[in-house]
Amino acid sequence: MAFGSLGLCDELLKTVAEQGYTKPSPIQAEAIPVVLSQRDVMAVAQTGTGKTAGFTLPMVQLLSGGSSPQALHVHALVITPTRELAAQVADSVQNYSRHMNIRSMAVFGGVRIEPQIAQLKAGVDVLIATPGRLIDLYNQQAINFDQLEILVLDEADRMLDLGFIDDILCIQKLLPNKRQTLMFSATFSTEIKSLANGMLNNPRLIEIPATNSTVDSVKQIIHPVDKTRKSEVLIHLIKKNKWHQVLVFSRTKKGADSLVLQLKDAGISADSIHANRTQHARTRTLEGFRNGNIAVLVATDIAARGIDVNQLPCVVNFDLPYLAEDYVHRIGRTGRAGTSGLAVSLFSEDESKQLQSIERLIGRQFEGDIIPGFAPSERIKADSTDDEEYGNFEADPKPQRRGQSQKRRSRGGNSSNRNRTPR
Ligand code: AMP
Repeated sequence: MAFGSLGLCDELLKTVAEQGYTKPSPIQAEAIPVVLSQRDVMAVAQTGTGKTAGFTLPMVQLLSGGSSPQALHVHALVITPTRELAAQVADSVQNYSRHMNIRSMAVFGGVRIEPQIAQLKAGVDVLIATPGRLIDLYNQQAINFDQLEILVLDEADRMLDLGFIDDILCIQKLLPNKRQTLMFSATFSTEIKSLANGMLNNPRLIEIPATNSTVDSVKQIIHPVDKTRKSEVLIHLIKKNKWHQVLVFSRTKKGADSLVLQLKDAGISADSIHANRTQHARTRTLEGFRNGNIAVLVATDIAARGIDVNQLPCVVNFDLPYLAEDYVHRIGRTGRAGTSGLAVSLFSEDESKQLQSIERLIGRQFEGDIIPGFAPSERIKADSTDDEEYGNFEADPKPQRRGQSQKRRSRGGNSSNRNRTPR
């Protein structure tokens, strides 16, 4: 399958060629012709599968055939769960529409609203927004949806996880009924199905199995280690492997900050990205990471969602995530759209439950790879009492709290029985 057979116009074919995309990813091959036919779409696809181009390319093509937006009006609205993702999608829209006459912008909280109001005055073809700020702007009469033609809900599952359901339903009421709606979600849960039923009109269901996407192209390694030696191990791995661009996941904000200090002490350029940092600091950090000034970016799950650095060579799970789905999202940051990647997890024995659910979810069992000099000791300490980040940038998400981990017992054992992960 070639891009040329999907019905895209010459300007967009030129753009994809300039991006170096030689063939459409599965989600693009399926979604682009359906979106161009103006039908609603429910797409179940992980991040990293190329879904942004999957909806952006046909969307800007459809919009380019119409008139320019009038003052305050918006022709297409993309709603994302987090600010980072909004900024990321806005970059992609800008990039993919570079040869088209399309005006796009992103609006999200954490930054001043006045410049956004001023920019919206001229009208935009594509507005990328997080739910809270969008509603604020509407309430301040800075935006008019009467001419809206296309609505995209990106990462709808994450929006529900973060408690945005009421906002989404509120936004839906503000939009014209006659519109094309595209919904993207990593899962197809009962909640997503019911949201889709209420928002989509006779949609085409497109399901891209997770195993077809990033997970297969990522080499996954589990290093069993002592919890207390994780920073030391990470520093060792970064230096030994000369990693120059690595995204490290920390379960907690405090843990992320303390790790950054330890990395810096070891002479490694590092910075963190999490909900306690200002939007400006996060944007600056991401930029530094993208352009190579920061070798190690330590992120919490929610902050990392949507970070798209082309062909990120390596991600490290400093802590295993509580939710197995987050493991898939995390490693989806590397080996994106067909390039191979490396996902390294530092596993301490108090995390056996998390590891088991990850293994169940992805349907494979890991062999632990013990690093010489860092074999885990006999007994491993119980969980730390760090604060956990489940805070997103705009709302308090569902508490998904500590009880489980505190109950988890620290288990003894010797290093020889740990080169196979506990079942
Ligand atoms: P997404 O899932 O939209 O976040 O995209 C993931 C990554 O895949 C981005 O870095 C894109 O630049 C890249 N990408 C998207 N489509 C293609 C394609 N057809 N071929 C190669 N890379 C792609």
